[in-house]
Amino acid sequence: MTVARTLQPLIVVLLASGCTPLPPPAPPPVEPAPRAPAISAEQRRAAEDIARQLTSQTGDVAAVYAALRRAYSGQGERFSETLTLAQQPPLKPLSYYQDDIERVTINRLLRPGEGLAYWRNWSKVLTGGSWDPAKQFRDPEEMRQVGNYAIFGILAHELGHYLTSHNFSMPAARMIDELWADQLAVAMMDHLAAANPG
Ligand SMILES: [Zn+2]
Repeated sequence: MTVARTLQPLIVVLLASGCTPLPPPAPPPVEPAPRAPAISAEQRRAAEDIARQLTSQTGDVAAVYAALRRAYSGQGERFSETLTLAQQPPLKPLSYYQDDIERVTINRLLRPGEGLAYWRNWSKVLTGGSWDPAKQFRDPEEMRQVGNYAIFGILAHELGHYLTSHNFSMPAARMIDELWADQLAVAMMDHLAAANPG
């Protein structure tokens, strides 16, 4: 499975992932993108751990979370001891970060046979059911694995909220916080994709 194919449905899901949907993206900035920092051996191991969990029949989102924290830490980000992870059933559309109790709530990873239900649920939420996920994917296993990559992307976004000190009591700042969380998450996914191509 290519990274590009993985990210396509993922980006759609990120925009609806339990946070305020964002407007269409602004035109690309004129200045060149900053060069990504070098990938350390630790980050390469984190990327491999994440890929293993997402493609395994028995992957654990808590292990993805632990590896993602290691990867963010490798880029100089700091986490407090009190930040925790809560898991919820895979068809819950709303994942979120609660700043007051420092907790990320995220779907557990999909088990074999759960991919179609996962994507049908997003189709219902985003298109009223008019998008047919069965036509988008090769087979049920691809549906499941891409679904797990979507959950990973949402988790990276929610951790981005933690890292940008997201504050839900400040509506005016909310859109900026969403953009920061997305930028951090996309940068981390880019970085991990480069560390673990294929
Ligand atoms: Zn968000």
